[in-house]
Amino acid sequence: MKIEISNIANLPSRFGKYKIKAFKEGFKEHLAIYKEPFGDVTNVRIHSECLTGDAIGSLKCDCRDQLEASLKFIEEHSGMVIYLRQEGRNIGLLNKINAYALQDKGLDTIEANHQLGFKADERTYEIVDFILKHFGITKINLLTNNPLKLMGLKCVEVIARVPIVIEPNEFNEGYLRVKKEQMGHILDEK
Ligand SMILES: [Zn+2]
Repeated sequence: MKIEISNIANLPSRFGKYKIKAFKEGFKEHLAIYKEPFGDVTNVRIHSECLTGDAIGSLKCDCRDQLEASLKFIEEHSGMVIYLRQEGRNIGLLNKINAYALQDKGLDTIEANHQLGFKADERTYEIVDFILKHFGITKINLLTNNPLKLMGLKCVEVIARVPIVIEPNEFNEGYLRVKKEQMGHILDEK
């Protein structure tokens, strides 16, 4: 697939002063939000779009907390947040809301996805290799609680994993428990 790349622009945000660059892959437009110098090992957060969490402040998940923590981290230590447009673990917004409706009836996040005919997680990370290669990044510290993300990247060496500690709230406790107990996330480190 042909990937169209934007020019570099400045992006001052409430979390810091960044550079931003867009990557258009078919209908999907991804972002690299970054702060230089990268150093030999670059701090990288791979964040999948979550409109309800990132923009609306939904308490059903911890996406916005993770995004904010990552942006603050790279403001302080330099690095990059790759913002991937794969809403709802890549099932799309409409399907995600249907999954939420099933969760309202008592299904957990994995059961709800299965009932709609999807895997628990439909995300892919090929574009991440493309973006990192584009910036000449070969070694990264990955900001994640998800050990599976460590294995998904082909063109870079993951030197270390930087955990993102998020305090649970009354609405996302079940979501975080499924992540931890059934999806192998590591959520207890301080
Ligand atoms: Zn979310």
